[in-house]
Amino acid sequence: MKLKSLMTTVAALVAAVWAGPAAAATANGPICDPAAYVNSTTYYGCTGSSHTALDIGNGSCGEWNHRGMLVGNYYYYYYGGCAAACNGSVCNGGAGNYYVVSGGSGWDFRQLHIYANVSSGTKTCDRCALGLVGGTGSATGPHVHADNRQYGTRKSAWYTSVGTTCGTNANCTNRLGVPTL
Ligand SMILES: [Zn+2]
Repeated sequence: MKLKSLMTTVAALVAAVWAGPAAAATANGPICDPAAYVNSTTYYGCTGSSHTALDIGNGSCGEWNHRGMLVGNYYYYYYGGCAAACNGSVCNGGAGNYYVVSGGSGWDFRQLHIYANVSSGTKTCDRCALGLVGGTGSATGPHVHADNRQYGTRKSAWYTSVGTTCGTNANCTNRLGVPTL
């Protein structure tokens, strides 16, 4: 094999197994309701212990759709199996029913505590219904937990960089962050 064709083959193999560099995504609110607000950011309940994620609720459970937050088509991998719950349950290590979108360089974006319905399952979609707002896993009330992690460590820049704080309106028309994926 000539060097040039060998290099072309290597480049093609690298492209096939490497998802590419991590890039900025856009995340809107997960609930299409003007009554949806951010209730926790860097700290639980805004002033409690460390959280480093967004908790978003609209005061409902098992009623409003919990939507994919990422703008554009993304592959949402579903981890289910938790019975319906609004105020917490022991399931999936505290995550409850949840989704993970995987990016490059160890980055991922997760949405937790889903109350499963017919919409719940692995899929590729743009802000589609993923289930209902609920409290499966470690939750004291129904809400959507959203985090952006690199190699499992939660990061805060994705929401602090766009000014999202406790009390920010989280209707699905509003941008809440720019996670890395
Ligand atoms: Zn949370």
